[in-house]
Amino acid sequence: MTDTDSAIDPDPTELREQLVAANHILVRQGVLDAFGHVSARTAAGADTFLLSRNLAPGSVTADDLLVHDLDGRASGDRPLYLERFIHAEIYRRRPDVMAVVHSHSPSVIPFSLCATPLRPVIHMAGFLASERTPVYEISDYAGDASDLLITSAGLGASLAITLAGDSVALMRGHGSVTAGSSLRESVYRAVYTEVNARIQLEAHSLGNPRYLSAGEAKSSDETVGGQADRAWNVWRDQVTQERNQSK
Ligand SMILES: [Zn+2]
Repeated sequence: MTDTDSAIDPDPTELREQLVAANHILVRQGVLDAFGHVSARTAAGADTFLLSRNLAPGSVTADDLLVHDLDGRASGDRPLYLERFIHAEIYRRRPDVMAVVHSHSPSVIPFSLCATPLRPVIHMAGFLASERTPVYEISDYAGDASDLLITSAGLGASLAITLAGDSVALMRGHGSVTAGSSLRESVYRAVYTEVNARIQLEAHSLGNPRYLSAGEAKSSDETVGGQADRAWNVWRDQVTQERNQSK
């Protein structure tokens, strides 16, 4: 099995190792901190996914990963993430999605608050919707006194409907979700969503940015997205090295 094959349909042990690495990579890249989570569907077409028990992503080990079903249930009595329904309801509606990241990465949040849409401004982020990244407005579903968290299947479903067929959706005053056809792709997209948002914010301070056209976004996504493995390998080596040094 090649490195690329294993990203598409890894064996369960390898998927667990990759998901541990994904947790640590996303912390190191500033996408996750003490909060947020990343999951992976257990196999193509499966109605189950792997997600850590309720734990800071930087502390996740293979033993912490639990198989969840699409109702957000997992065996055992260890506490689960409150927002596991984000993952369950996206997998339920999107058979093409093999991995989901939910983060509070800070540069994207301003675009959930104001009318200016998050749009692709760099070739590394052609996966973003070219006109407007969708924004989930939780008060439409949970009223005006909620804690903004996706703590039920109903709220997860409404978020998944807002995401629809896109790669990224923003959650007003909270964060974002990123979906992809492999764990590597979802990690890559989560990192470059944050980078694109940072650059777009900086560009707005200079004037009105020129966005990628729909055609440029599509072409660059096809070219650059096919090389997500390169980023994954570098990022994985960094976290492995750091883990070994701290032993
Ligand atoms: Zn959250």
